[in-house]
Amino acid sequence: MKVLICGGGIAGLTLAWCLERQGHHPVVVERAPHFRDEGYMIDFFGSGHDAGERLGLLPELERIHYPIAHLTFVDERGRERISLPYPVLRRRIFEGRHFNFMRGELARVLHARIEGRVELRFHTTVEAFEQHGARVRVRLSDGAEDDFDLLVGADGVHSQVRRLAFGPEERFARFIGCYTASFILDGPPDGLRDREAFTTLTVPNRQVAVYPIRGGRLATFFIHRAEHPVEDFSRESALRELRTVYRGMDWLVPELLERCEQASGFYFDTVTQIDMPHWSTGRVVLLGDACQCVSLLAGQGASMAVAGAYLLAEELGMAGSDVPAALARYEQRLKPAIEHKQAAGRRIAGWFVPESRLRLALRDLGLRMSLWPVASSVFRRRMAAESIFRH
Ligand SMILES: Cc1cc2nc3c(=O)[nH]c(=O)nc-3n(C[C@H](O)[C@H](O)[C@H](O)COP(=O)(O)OP(=O)(O)OC[C@H]3O[C@@H](n4cnc5c(N)ncnc54)[C@H](O)[C@@H]3O)c2cc1C
Repeated sequence: MKVLICGGGIAGLTLAWCLERQGHHPVVVERAPHFRDEGYMIDFFGSGHDAGERLGLLPELERIHYPIAHLTFVDERGRERISLPYPVLRRRIFEGRHFNFMRGELARVLHARIEGRVELRFHTTVEAFEQHGARVRVRLSDGAEDDFDLLVGADGVHSQVRRLAFGPEERFARFIGCYTASFILDGPPDGLRDREAFTTLTVPNRQVAVYPIRGGRLATFFIHRAEHPVEDFSRESALRELRTVYRGMDWLVPELLERCEQASGFYFDTVTQIDMPHWSTGRVVLLGDACQCVSLLAGQGASMAVAGAYLLAEELGMAGSDVPAALARYEQRLKPAIEHKQAAGRRIAGWFVPESRLRLALRDLGLRMSLWPVASSVFRRRMAAESIFRH
């Protein structure tokens, strides 16, 4: 089967690899001019961990894992308020089946599996398509036209394939009321005390976190509730927005904002979920954030992108020539779990960015209780961390 995958991110690369292993002929088109291996720290557990195990990826994931020592919560003067031993949480909440790594490192691991085996065309996107029976005729941005047995939109939360196949983003996007940013700096600030911790400062409506990463660099993460809608997502405008919103926050924040001009891997976006009645039409199907974005609040987008790709390939492998039946089963198996995780993501927003000092204090109480043995299963349930492969 000849499959065009639009988007060479976590979902697209995983699907390309799975299909190539089955003897299909995937082609990946990616809008970025070159391989994107920048990003932010992600938690990887549940369905993603199980899919990774089935794909024989665990040794590679272990290699890129960051053994964070503590989750440390500081006050505005940088004084430690709560410090949780991360290996203990990892064992209790996730039974050790959990990784932390940079999104880009996961992408690199997946890319290595298809390099030289799958055609990956950068600086290219899908401009238009038409369906004729069992074929999809696709026109690409480089002027090429070709026929495929299946077109997969794995082009992220702002998917172009979704727009072409189902309509404008506004119809499916659920804004969670927050914006997020991340970037990478060369070298941690002098004021960062614990270099083995994921350190977080939260004040009402805003959170900033930092964590040292390989190569002597520092990854940052910002999330805030929106007081006004952002219209312009250019880097210059996003930097202005961050400086305005985070003005007055103490600790390392002024230095981070001063240095963000020289940062690499700059990312700024809304925190959004995608909610669609259906994920496929004919022989065009969506995958990953394009149809199932749970948002960073659920902490499982990349995990579910890998799991979804694994599941779609499995269904296509079993269906033979009945591709529409495979697409329907893929959606039936995955969608209920996604809706459950999206609901959890919305609940967790109050934990990420509490709206008041009182809610912040309640969150901190919950964090302190997280080490109690009985709390682990409550946390697992609240996060909807269960794997779709364990029902
Ligand atoms: C700050 C932050 C923290 C996060 N933390 C976590 C976490 O802890 N755990 C977790 O599991 N997930 C986390 N996520 C979510 C996770 O990163 C995503 O869910 C995951 O990357 C989705 O994979 P994807 O392949 O669907 O999309 P992406 O990884 O976004 O890939 C989409 C690809 O498509 C390309 N593309 C876009 N448009 C086009 C186009 N028109 N044509 C061709 N190509 C196109 C893009 O360049 C990109 O390469 C986080 C996200 C953010 C922003």
